[in-house]
Amino acid sequence: MTEQPGSTEPLVDQHDTVLLDLDGVVYRGAHAVPHAPEAIAALRQRGVGVMYVTNNASRPPATVSDHLTELGIPTEPHEVTTAAQAAAGLVADEHPAGTRVLVVGGVGLREALTEVGMTVVESADDDPAVVVQGFAPDVGWQQLSEALLAIDRGAEHIASNLDATIPLERGIAIGNGSLVAALVNATGRHPRSTGKPQPAIFHQAAQRAGARRPLVVGDRLDTDLEGARAAGYPGLHVLTGVDGPAELLRCAPARRPSLLALDLRGLLVPHPPVRRDGDRWVCADAVAWVEGAPGEAVVVLRTGDGERRVQGEVVLDLDELRAACAAAWAASDEAGLPTTLADAGVDISVRTRPEDVGAIA
Ligand SMILES: [Mg+2]
Repeated sequence: MTEQPGSTEPLVDQHDTVLLDLDGVVYRGAHAVPHAPEAIAALRQRGVGVMYVTNNASRPPATVSDHLTELGIPTEPHEVTTAAQAAAGLVADEHPAGTRVLVVGGVGLREALTEVGMTVVESADDDPAVVVQGFAPDVGWQQLSEALLAIDRGAEHIASNLDATIPLERGIAIGNGSLVAALVNATGRHPRSTGKPQPAIFHQAAQRAGARRPLVVGDRLDTDLEGARAAGYPGLHVLTGVDGPAELLRCAPARRPSLLALDLRGLLVPHPPVRRDGDRWVCADAVAWVEGAPGEAVVVLRTGDGERRVQGEVVLDLDELRAACAAAWAASDEAGLPTTLADAGVDISVRTRPEDVGAIA
């Protein structure tokens, strides 16, 4: 979303498939994200392909699709791509069928490896060629030590994903990346990873969906949106999950989304373009620029007659946020900094306008 052409049609009319992240986009814990079931039903009605892409390697696709169906989002297992499948796909690309693979992880990973023809083993004494590691809540000393033995004897180490933490309803918990770090600490060598933000999982998901013009949708800049860029697909960031407006304004180039929406209803409405006008950035009625020294700069917005500085507690609409991001990103790039903005906290809320969410409930 530096200079962004936008879409005068509903955004999804430019794409044949959406690659949707799950947590923070479709559901949060046990509950659907508000408006997600209706928006996804509307996508299907338009004939748009839906593929769910998740870094969670512990649950097989059928468990994920059952959960979605229970939440009022009818889903088939083949519409889910997990990091476990991405890891299994990498193993199958590089090794013949029947290759012995030691699993550190759960049933999701075992099923994915079996499905691509690998032989899953439990012990380093079975002489595995590869150790594949994905999250499962019961991974502990025994599995990790077995993996260390196998790697020490020459097995290659592959991780489904490197998320340091996973979100739980009570807060954050240890993720696969932190369990991988235990092995890295012992081996001194880093594994390859296939989950987001690596592009492999998105390429596999698009291929399985038969997508020609996929759009990635996510709520985390460091996984979903960085992965979209790495994969070469446009990325839509929604504001229903982890990263909010303040993180967007400070986003490093590799993680920047192409498009912004409040929630999944944003797929069904047009998106005004963001364009540069001299040192200012314009999105519909909103004009944004950056004032101040590098490292202390502030975004200034003009909408109608009034000018506002984006600092402290502010309420923006989506076009203002789009223009503000484009201005902040360009100024940061020109200053040669990850972000040129001041360190002072900014608490931005985004108000909902009818044009940003369309007519569905
Ligand atoms: Mg997420």
